[in-house]
Amino acid sequence: MDTRTLLDLDRAHVWHPYAPMPGAVEPFVVESASGVRLRLAEPVAGHRELVDGMSSWWAAIHGYGHPELDEAVRAQLGRMSHVMFGGLTHEPAVRLAARLVEITPEPLQHVFLADSGSVSVEVALKMCLQYWQSLGRPAKRRLLTWRGGYHGDTFHPMSVCDPDGGMHALWTGVLPQQLFADEPPAGFDAPLDPAYADHLADLIERHADELAAVIVEPVVQGAGGMRFHSPAYLRLLRELCDRHDVLLVFDEIATGFGRTGELFAADHAGLSPDVLCLGKALTGGYLTMAATLCTPRVADGISRGRLPVLAHGPTFMGNPLAAAVANASLDLLLRQDWQVGIKRIETGLRDGLAAAADLPGVRDVRVLGAIGVVQLDHPVDMRAATAAAAAAGVWLRPFRDLIYTMPPYITEDVDVARICEGVLAAAKMS
Ligand code: PLP
Repeated sequence: MDTRTLLDLDRAHVWHPYAPMPGAVEPFVVESASGVRLRLAEPVAGHRELVDGMSSWWAAIHGYGHPELDEAVRAQLGRMSHVMFGGLTHEPAVRLAARLVEITPEPLQHVFLADSGSVSVEVALKMCLQYWQSLGRPAKRRLLTWRGGYHGDTFHPMSVCDPDGGMHALWTGVLPQQLFADEPPAGFDAPLDPAYADHLADLIERHADELAAVIVEPVVQGAGGMRFHSPAYLRLLRELCDRHDVLLVFDEIATGFGRTGELFAADHAGLSPDVLCLGKALTGGYLTMAATLCTPRVADGISRGRLPVLAHGPTFMGNPLAAAVANASLDLLLRQDWQVGIKRIETGLRDGLAAAADLPGVRDVRVLGAIGVVQLDHPVDMRAATAAAAAAGVWLRPFRDLIYTMPPYITEDVDVARICEGVLAAAKMS
C-alpha cells in the first residue's frame, strides 16, 4: 500500500491512543524496526530512520527484532500459538510464573497472567476487594492512592488515576469514589518530609475501616507526570498499611524489569507489597501480556470466601507465545550485567540533558536509571516538539509539560547522546 493511501485510510478509520476520530494528527508510518531504530516508510525531515527514545512506552527494553526473542516466538509458534488456560496448562506459562516468583520480593508467591497492564491492575484491585469480602469485611472496598498517578484506562484503574487528569471529570458518577493523598514530595534523594508523613498517616488511619488497599506507582509516577519520589515513602506506606490492616499494591507496569536501576522499584525500598502488577517490558515489548502477583495471605483469604475463586479469566490468559517470549526476555536481561548497562545509560542521560537546565522555559531536568525527563514551565507544543526531535533523528512522544525518554537498554552511548540532542531540540521548540 502506498504511504498516502495508508495515511488516508488511517485518518478515516483507525483510532489512535487518546485521539479524535477521524484522526487529527498525521502519524509517522513505520515500515520496520530493528535494534534501536524505527525505519519510516518515507523520510521525515531528511531522516528515514529514527533512534527510538521511547522503547514503545517502556516495553522494548532489548530493542526491536532481537534474534533470541524472534527465535523464542518462532519456536513456540511451531508448538502452539494459543490454547485456553481454563483446565489446561503449559510449560511457557508455568516457567514464567515460577520465574516471576523467583525474581520478585519473596512474599509474592502466586501469579495471575493477564493480557494488558490495565487488566492486571483490574485483577489486583479485584483481589483486594474480594479478599476483604471473603473475610466478612465488605465495607473495606475503597482505595487510596496519591494524586498524579496513572494505572490504566479501564474503569477501576481510571478511578485511581490522577483526579485532576480529566478522566474523573468525564466519568463523574460512574467511577467509584476513591481517596487521594497528595503527591509525595518530589525527588528520589529527598529526605522524608514529616508533614507529608503525617498527612498520609492521618488519611489511612481515619479511613482504615473502609480501605481495601493503597495502590501506588513506586518511585516513579509515570504517565501522570514523570515524577520521582524517595523510597522512604514506600517504607512509610508499608508500615501504615500493616498497622491499619490495609493491603498495599505496587503498580510496577512501567518501572518493572530494571528501568529505575533496581530490578523492581520496590527493591529500592527493600520491601514487598501484598500485590504487584507487571506488564510492558515483561515480554520485551513483543506481545501483550501482564502479570499480577500476590502473597499467600491474599490468595488464602480469597479462597475462604463464599465464592472461593478469583473471578477473572481472560480468553488469552497465559498466551504461550507471549509467555515464551517473556521467558526469553528475562533470560536475556538477567544473564547480563544489566545494572551496569542501566548505569551507563543513566550517566549518558545526565551528561546529555544537563544543558537543558539552562534553556528558557525549563522548570526541571531529572534522571533516574534509564529515564530522562525535561519538564517545562508551560505545555509542550506536541507537534512542533515531535518534529524537532525527528529533525534530530530521534523518536520522542512529549506530552503535557514533559519531554522525556526511556530508551531501550541496548542503546549505545552515541545514540543516547543523539536522543539527548533530540530532547534538547524538542525543548527549544516548545
Ligand atoms: N499502570 C502503569 C503504571 C502504566 O504506566 C500503564 C501504561 O502506561 C498502565 C498501568 C496500563 O497498562 P496498559 O497500557 O498495558 O493497559
